[in-house]
Amino acid sequence: MCSEKGKGEAMFTIDVSAFDDLLSAIKAKGYALLGPTIRDRVVVYDQISGSKDLPIGWSDRQEGGTYRLNKRKDQAFFGYSVGPQTWKKFLYPDHLKLWEAHSDGSRIEIEPATPESRRYALIGIRPCELAALAIHDRIFLEGPYLDPHYQALRADTFLLAVNCTEPGGTCFCHSMGSGPAVKQGFDLALTEIVENDDHYFLVNPGSDRGAEILQEVVYHEATAEETARAEKALSDAEYRMGRYMDIDNIRELLYRNLEHPYWEEIAKRCLNCANCTLVCPTCFCSTVEDSTDLSGASASRTRMWDSCFTSQFSYIHGGSVRQSAMARYRQWITHKLASWQDQFGTSGCVGCGRCITWCPVGIDITEAVWALRESEGETRREKTQLTGV
Ligand code: SF4
Ligand code: SF4
Repeated sequence: MCSEKGKGEAMFTIDVSAFDDLLSAIKAKGYALLGPTIRDRVVVYDQISGSKDLPIGWSDRQEGGTYRLNKRKDQAFFGYSVGPQTWKKFLYPDHLKLWEAHSDGSRIEIEPATPESRRYALIGIRPCELAALAIHDRIFLEGPYLDPHYQALRADTFLLAVNCTEPGGTCFCHSMGSGPAVKQGFDLALTEIVENDDHYFLVNPGSDRGAEILQEVVYHEATAEETARAEKALSDAEYRMGRYMDIDNIRELLYRNLEHPYWEEIAKRCLNCANCTLVCPTCFCSTVEDSTDLSGASASRTRMWDSCFTSQFSYIHGGSVRQSAMARYRQWITHKLASWQDQFGTSGCVGCGRCITWCPVGIDITEAVWALRESEGETRREKTQLTGV
């Protein structure tokens, strides 16, 4: 796992033509390259073999319940914002067999699944996604309930982060303190600059192995002008973010408003489809399913992603604890923004905006917070008052 030496400041420059050399150097160390690529007209994460698989020249338009890819005027490699998938699909898979049991008629043998190790390189992980990864690390690696499967998959992950210079219409990582520049927890962090005929990356090594990889490609120390361009691109990104949220005393705000009539309003629109939880990079609720073969000679237990939006999720003896859509939405947002802090010491939201984009009816977590604040007599503050940009 990478060290936390990186300060989020670019120090070196590589030309765009050296990007594939960087990927080859990572691959040569035995890592499988996972990165963004286009499928079914969305940016997804999958195995890639080189820059040719990236969404080169594509951007996207995102709004509540809306996602469209658009052609860019340039050939930016990372000129889009996050799509519906998250890296948890690799490190915390949607289906995972926990054990198998076999019976020969007289005795039953139970075989726990052996945690599988992988050497994944996550190419193009965004700052908000790194923040989400840090949350999962805290939950699955620091206890009190360790996940040996996550532990094995995560033990040797190479993180090639890309700072966000193209925030989406639903992004608000700046409000959550998780972007648009990475601060720590990466091996290499890139900032892509595409201006006029110039196309290059500023590179900041965040770990010893990141620095080693950089030695394998042609680079030079970043000039003052290159650094200034990167800084400007990132401060522009802060300003262009489509959403913002006031997080001052947000935990208390949510706890004060458990009986707020706004939850009923939301419930009239919420389809309980669970999209918001499935696309969220921090949501990790799961259930288990047991199955047997027809002969009864073998059985298995599989862990699967679940969602607090299903009535089954809170089912205990006698029925579901949260029977209404109102109760389930309130649970979700209160957990994300308030009780998550009590459980894990951070917000459960990193401001990626996916739950807004992929909600079929455009329910918006940032609007919910503003609605509570306004109902308490607060005036909605301008973005510049909150973000300073
Ligand atoms: S709650 Fe929404 S905005 Fe926050 S991290 Fe999850 S998907 Fe992203
Ligand atoms: S808030 Fe939106 S995405 Fe989430 S369950 Fe309701 S309708 Fe689905």
